[in-house]
Amino acid sequence: MAYQQEIYLDDNATTRVLPLAAQEAFSVMEDLYGNPSSSHITGLQARRILESARTVAREVLGASEGRIVFTSGATEAIQTGIFSALYEAKKKIANRSELDGKGVLLYGATEHKAIPQALEHWNRLLDLGCEILEIPVDHKGQLDLEFLTKHIDSAHLLCTMLVNNETGVIHELTAIERIVASAKNKVAWMVDTVQAIGKIKLNLSSSEIDYAPISGHKLYAPKGIGILYVREGSPFTPLIAGGGQEGGARGGTENLPGVAAIASILRALRDRDGTVFASYQQLLSYRDRIVQSLNQAFPRVVYNTPFDTAVPTTINFAVPGVTGKELLDLFDAAGMRVSSGSACGSAVKGSYVLEAMGLPKWQSDGAIRLSFGLAIKESDIVATCKRIEEAGIALAKSCLIRSEPLVGSTVAIDGLIQLKEGSNCSWILCDKSTNHCVIIDPFEELLSRIETVIRCQNIKVTAVLDTHQHVDHASPRKKLVEILGACMCNSNQPTDVLGWPVETDGSLLLDNGSKAQYLKLSDNCVIAKTELPGHTVDGQAFLVGNPHEGVLKRNKVRFAFTGDTLLIGGIGRTDFETSAAESLLESLRKLPKVIDSHTIICPTHDYNIGFVTTLESEQRHNPLLAQILNEISVLSAADYLSLKTAVDAEIEDEKNCELVCGSIRAYEDDTGSSIDVAPEFLGEFFQEHRDSLIIDVRESHEFHFAQDWTSLGLEQPPCNIPLTRLGNFLSEVLREEKLAKQEIIFLCRSGNRSAKAAKALRRLGVQSAWHIAGGIALGISPSYEVIAAEEMEYAI
Ligand code: PLP
Repeated sequence: MAYQQEIYLDDNATTRVLPLAAQEAFSVMEDLYGNPSSSHITGLQARRILESARTVAREVLGASEGRIVFTSGATEAIQTGIFSALYEAKKKIANRSELDGKGVLLYGATEHKAIPQALEHWNRLLDLGCEILEIPVDHKGQLDLEFLTKHIDSAHLLCTMLVNNETGVIHELTAIERIVASAKNKVAWMVDTVQAIGKIKLNLSSSEIDYAPISGHKLYAPKGIGILYVREGSPFTPLIAGGGQEGGARGGTENLPGVAAIASILRALRDRDGTVFASYQQLLSYRDRIVQSLNQAFPRVVYNTPFDTAVPTTINFAVPGVTGKELLDLFDAAGMRVSSGSACGSAVKGSYVLEAMGLPKWQSDGAIRLSFGLAIKESDIVATCKRIEEAGIALAKSCLIRSEPLVGSTVAIDGLIQLKEGSNCSWILCDKSTNHCVIIDPFEELLSRIETVIRCQNIKVTAVLDTHQHVDHASPRKKLVEILGACMCNSNQPTDVLGWPVETDGSLLLDNGSKAQYLKLSDNCVIAKTELPGHTVDGQAFLVGNPHEGVLKRNKVRFAFTGDTLLIGGIGRTDFETSAAESLLESLRKLPKVIDSHTIICPTHDYNIGFVTTLESEQRHNPLLAQILNEISVLSAADYLSLKTAVDAEIEDEKNCELVCGSIRAYEDDTGSSIDVAPEFLGEFFQEHRDSLIIDVRESHEFHFAQDWTSLGLEQPPCNIPLTRLGNFLSEVLREEKLAKQEIIFLCRSGNRSAKAAKALRRLGVQSAWHIAGGIALGISPSYEVIAAEEMEYAI
């Protein structure tokens, strides 16, 4: 099998140490290990290394004058610069009259978080009381110069950056410098040059810049080394006092291996002979090629980096309809390390940089940063482009993104698909035998995804249904029907307001003796409608099952779509104008008469990442529901109402960014399902658990960038059941006794998704579910087998 190496494309976060830097550091640790402050020969040799590093730093930074101070990194350099400037400001403020005010501290809205946080920290610690003002940026990430001009006269310190770490945007320093120079009072100016070194020529001494921080680990040197440039004559106060090292500028024995390493990189940058670093022209052509591949792989890709005013090494992009987390997972599975936004802010939530640029929320939330360094080779670019194109094919084939032309999936989906956006759940229920489906509770944010699944799978849609009319938004049901067009069996059929067709396939009896209309998906699968008012007066449930002789028995109902009536860990709230609190009691008491304990309940919201639930599990976890359904000690309607009113009163809408549809009990943290196996023992572990059902819960496009499973001790690849299909799998587990008893071990890349899957199973009473803590990321060798696209099989 042809396994391929991983490709690291996250150089703005940190870089691999280049061999030349590692060798230099090694030689200092092994041979020239002296203390630069010692006066013997070993010490003098060490001092020479330190001073020659300072000399080359001056050359590369264009800093013939001023201080070059070695620090532990850019963050320390930033602290030192800000502290120095603000300590000076403190003296000035003390001499000012009340009327002059305390002045302001200015920083760009897209600065690295180290800047505003350091400003806030030192402003407070030095008790300055200055106002800290964020300078807005335009849609291309450039500072609002009018704003800057307006505030420059009252500013003590201005912090801007040369190159942005998330977008690669190059800031217009000449225009900023003019404003700084025109200020009535001298303003200290810090320019963060961390991401600019080697990409933009610096001439610090001949500029107005007072402080410039630099980081070694962004530049192929190790972590723990940085540089601060301080302009000749600019205020300077050491942050660390000690043994007088660095001419008294920074106490503490110098990190000589780090200094030697960064110096070797700076020398290679100074000489730039083409052997170590690519030229700017080469970097530009590399970016063009990557962009071409991205365009091919993701035809609807949108770029957040304005390429005409950015360095070529950062490409920030988003793909409509695909979340940042999904893209990150896809790239990771394909062996490419990219990041969402900046590594420090991680956790895949929106980017403050892109938000400051005014980009739409989806573009900021879905942003991926691909960044490469100056040492990238032509062969890396070839491999990157190939891998991006393969990732595009994998994603298109998984039916998750819209690609033109649509690539048909090789495996038809059967059963339930759960699509989620935050807590909102939309459901697609497919019957493979007839290739028909129904869509339940469509949400606006999920329409494009629903459409992609339907078109890609080439399924006919029998109906698009809502379980109720939402209080906070109108259903996009009609819009979806229009979008689906010819995919609908009959887009013109008259329906009620919730999408239920006026003409159905007939009616059947439910187990409680009531009559219910139904739509037929196949001979073995119907969807029956029954009223379920309470949360809203128009609430209804859809029961999916296999009827026999005109009766849909409780134990034959496989799925129940109960809207907001019964949520995971809660009961739908009934304090809306459109609610019917008394009716909810009857609706809840009706449920056990029409579904059984194995029926999978599919709610409209999933606040606690439980995916789906069952009546039995809800009764176990929700005391109020247990009281309501208790047939021996019957809860009176009056007692129910007062209990329910109290529960609803606990809902704190302001605390949540969305309207919560019920009071949800926190999910108990079940750590019992977690198996801690050290990466080196994973092989042994899987050998010992040969009879277990091993399930990889990553999405199919990730799974199919196959790992070298044998290196994990697995004789064959695990089953692939993505979280979108977990509800479907659960219905099988609960109905098949053998499966319910089987030990099930979930795994994924980081252990995050597999933990959710194991917890969900345990919550439903399947105690034999486990997951591998920390994921398999640490256990697999960083090599990837690429399966030819035609051979890929997908189960959505
Ligand atoms: N400034 C910028 C623009 C950065 O990208 C970073 C690192 O992410 C820093 C400052 C902080 O650098 P260090 O990790 O060396 O403290």
